[in-house]
Amino acid sequence: MKFSQYTYQRVEFNEFETEYKKALELLKDAPSFEEQSNAISVISKISKKFDTAANLVAIRHSIDTTDSFYADEQNYIDSVSPAVWNLTVEYYKALNQSPFKEQLISTYGKQIFVYAELATLTVNEAILADMKEENMLRTEYEKLLASASIPFDGEDRNLAGLEPFMESPDREIRKRASEARFGWMASKMNDLDSIYDKLVKTRHNMAQKMGFENFIPMGYARMRRSGYGPEEIAEFRNLIFEEVVPLANELKKRQAKRLGLESLMYYDYSFSYNTGNPTPKGNPDWIINHGKTMYDELSPETSSFFRFMLDKELMDLVNKKGKAGGGYCTYIADYQSPFIFSNFNGTSHDIDVLTHEAGHAFQVFNSRELPLDEYYWPTSEAAEIHSMSMEFFTWPWMNLFFEADTDKYYFTHLSSSMQFLPYGTTVDEFQHKVYANPDMSPEDRRKTWREIELKYTPWKKYEGNEYLMNGGYWQRQAHIYASPFYYIDYVLAQICAFQFWVRMRQDKNAAWNDYVKLCKAGGSMPFLDLVQLAGLKSPFKKETLKEVVSQISEYLNTVDDTKL
Ligand code: ZN
Repeated sequence: MKFSQYTYQRVEFNEFETEYKKALELLKDAPSFEEQSNAISVISKISKKFDTAANLVAIRHSIDTTDSFYADEQNYIDSVSPAVWNLTVEYYKALNQSPFKEQLISTYGKQIFVYAELATLTVNEAILADMKEENMLRTEYEKLLASASIPFDGEDRNLAGLEPFMESPDREIRKRASEARFGWMASKMNDLDSIYDKLVKTRHNMAQKMGFENFIPMGYARMRRSGYGPEEIAEFRNLIFEEVVPLANELKKRQAKRLGLESLMYYDYSFSYNTGNPTPKGNPDWIINHGKTMYDELSPETSSFFRFMLDKELMDLVNKKGKAGGGYCTYIADYQSPFIFSNFNGTSHDIDVLTHEAGHAFQVFNSRELPLDEYYWPTSEAAEIHSMSMEFFTWPWMNLFFEADTDKYYFTHLSSSMQFLPYGTTVDEFQHKVYANPDMSPEDRRKTWREIELKYTPWKKYEGNEYLMNGGYWQRQAHIYASPFYYIDYVLAQICAFQFWVRMRQDKNAAWNDYVKLCKAGGSMPFLDLVQLAGLKSPFKKETLKEVVSQISEYLNTVDDTKL
């Protein structure tokens, strides 16, 4: 069966609730471990049915945000999912009180109880209406960005469609494209401010109703984080400031020198070489075909995985009008199918999708037989290790896509990953400030953003662009709206993926085997245990950070980038 044949049927909440509560009674009244275990399977089946429907809607809605059927279904899901989550938490509470806890732990591992405990901090009856509101606001943001239709070079383009022009070798075109993009954002600034303001206030209210001082601890619980908290993250941001910002600054200077520019302006940041950025040398079908060769050759596991994705048409890759922005990988449980969504636009980013999102998909594909659906995905700082490391494990095949541009690609990949870290940290610090001060005005938020931005990315120059000078840049970052506190996970994971990059240069097979082991463990352990399982060192340790930064910077220093 192909993706287009996967049937969507609305799960009516009333029926879902009746069925779920019945199963919950079975669980609570179970006279033996075996019967409780059966009740867990029944609950899992009911949950997966809802989850499958919700994912089919989310995917089909994001592929075409103008399709009114799936837009309505998305509204329906947005309105009932808080109550569904609340029922799930009832289940977790019952699990926590189980008289057979010892046996449950020996069968399923103790991580389910960590998730269960955290989940109870994220919802109760009193906040269901706020959660609905939050869902609606998220969807409103997604729709607003997807609605961008910006006249440029004789055509109306969406945000992804403008990107290739922002990487044009012609500085004038880059400037015009960037101005067009941020000009559109500026024209929507009031809407973007208002959506975010409502989101922040709604989240703050929810947190207070849940007994928290502000949304920060609730946000962490939603991310299912364990083993570290806001203090460790604050320390980690300091480490990035000390260890990475100087190198990133250096790399920006090298870029300016390569381009022969006195100093870089904001519209130069995504342009790397006067000979042009590395780009894939063929159309989407050609890219996918090489992707098949790559995954066939990488390992038997990746080969069967990628063929599964192709046979079932589980990828929607090319940018189209009305499509939501960005890229993601999700999982359709009842069909045991990962799904990859992206917006190919002819830049090197297209290949990153094929490696990054495929890394996520490969992990969930490898975790699909784990005994609990809670274990299909790990927490996201661990999940991003799978994706970011796959970007590195596939390096030996990059010549298939980039041909003569391959060396440029390598240099860009590593240096931009390094320069990403201070940006990711900026996003995180911003969110901590925002949620600690929920009454900040939109102007104050922009001011705060600009201050933090200058701290971590002091090279950012926006002269001539009032919107960006005044701190508007963050409004393009969907995570800030949709997934609070997610962003630092990319930074934590990148430090882990860099370690795989170092290790694969020493012993490729050992590194790959550890990677597969990590993928198979899914979400059955907390982040730092998974890191250890994969033979990696904690990214919170200063030595770890120092070591990867020095290894990468050593490599980058061996490259004469002025010749690229
Ligand atoms: Zn990812």
